[in-house]
Amino acid sequence: MKKKTDSRRSPAEVLFSLHESCGVFGIYSPSEDVARLTFYALFALQHRGQESAGIATADGKTLRIFAAMGRVSNVFTEESLKNLTGSIAIGHNRYSTSGSSRASNAQPIIVGNETSTIAVAHNGNLVNAEHLYQELVELGYKFNGTTDSEVIANLILAAPGKNWLEKIRHTMHRIQGAYSLVILTPTELYAVRDPLGVRPLCLGRVDHGWAVASESCAIDQIGASFEREIERDEIVLINGDGVQSFPGDPGKRGLCIFEYIYFARPDSLINGKLLYATRQAMGAGLANEHPIDGDIVMSVPDSATAAANGYATASGLPAVEGLIKNRYVGRTFIMPDQHMRDLGVYMKFNPMPQVLDGERVVVVDDSIVRGTTTPQVVKMLRKAGAKEIHMRICAPPIKHPCYFGVDMATRGELIAAKKSVPEICKYIGADSLGYLSIKGLLKAVDQPRENFCLACFTGDYPIPVQLEMDKLGIEILANKRSEVCDAMEDD
Ligand code: SF4
Repeated sequence: MKKKTDSRRSPAEVLFSLHESCGVFGIYSPSEDVARLTFYALFALQHRGQESAGIATADGKTLRIFAAMGRVSNVFTEESLKNLTGSIAIGHNRYSTSGSSRASNAQPIIVGNETSTIAVAHNGNLVNAEHLYQELVELGYKFNGTTDSEVIANLILAAPGKNWLEKIRHTMHRIQGAYSLVILTPTELYAVRDPLGVRPLCLGRVDHGWAVASESCAIDQIGASFEREIERDEIVLINGDGVQSFPGDPGKRGLCIFEYIYFARPDSLINGKLLYATRQAMGAGLANEHPIDGDIVMSVPDSATAAANGYATASGLPAVEGLIKNRYVGRTFIMPDQHMRDLGVYMKFNPMPQVLDGERVVVVDDSIVRGTTTPQVVKMLRKAGAKEIHMRICAPPIKHPCYFGVDMATRGELIAAKKSVPEICKYIGADSLGYLSIKGLLKAVDQPRENFCLACFTGDYPIPVQLEMDKLGIEILANKRSEVCDAMEDD
């Protein structure tokens, strides 16, 4: 496996940050090349994580795995796919929110003993992982990596129960937080969604089998047909007998509203609604709440494109493309000083003075997190000749960090936690700034408030969280433990 050793974000990652935790996929189909279909599905889910990718397959007896650092197209070769034989597969794209970005934390994770082996892929974040990690270590469980996902895999292995279904349900009673899981045994595929339903997970039908995916775009990508969303607290079992559902007893709902604003692909469906249409409605809401005398409307590409179209339609202003995005800029280049950071933005976006010169521009973006990118975009548009710049933001001000699988900075780094809207407007250098209200956002998604987690706007988390939670919490515990072991050996 290729290794990346830096565990913290590079300056470029910080600059362009608002990142999802992961994408998962699973398929059961005795008549198909399941590894290759999983590879295609991971392509469709690439936007959910680009740090590492992996596939595990099962052939009735043995599990095989290949996982490495990098994007899907870099990780797999014809040969690695050929070696992944079997009729069941799971796959994973990672963006790290628990444990650092390194090969030993790539997923799926395989755990097992002489009698039983499973592979697990996880999208989400647990809020009680450190405590469970310590408990497992004391019981003698060995960890290869430092993620909450490995905690889940080992808990399932350690859980009491006559079969995997009972072990999984037992584990669900112990873990808290966000988890959409796909679990592979030698003969079965399980799909699991947490009681709040924080991260999406859906079921599709392939010719002679079934598939599950974080988003419906991956189901479309492999030519399968969308069946339904997996319910909160539900376990779906897929094996030679077909599909069986084991509903749970979910309480509160807590779907992450950022799936609608930013994370999921616009061609995915959530709660039966196409995200492209929902984002257009967000743009229309912004036009209603924050009208302005402008000449043109544009987006910060790509995630705000649908919202900019919605703003343009509702306001009657023409929609234009004023910034072209270079889709091939990775996150690994380093930017040691301000000059380089400015150049970094130019590497990602190129403004077109021919479109912008002398215009009063309404710029629609999905969110402002730290406030590091927006001032640079504003500066770049002014330099390209824009006469006025009016920023319109789909997400209400983000004042609280996320503990459910979105790497969204600490509270001290969130600009809206420290500054008022007029202060932010001044800071980013715009002529005006308007955020969509929570009410306007809920109107766009067309669902009641109680269906969602809105904690990064309100601070009202759907389950209790430890406010000082550290993404590297398990890593810190593991390091302390190995220091203690080394000291004992030295003695
Ligand atoms: Fe999503 Fe924000 Fe809730 Fe995190 S805190 S799950 S980003 S809505």
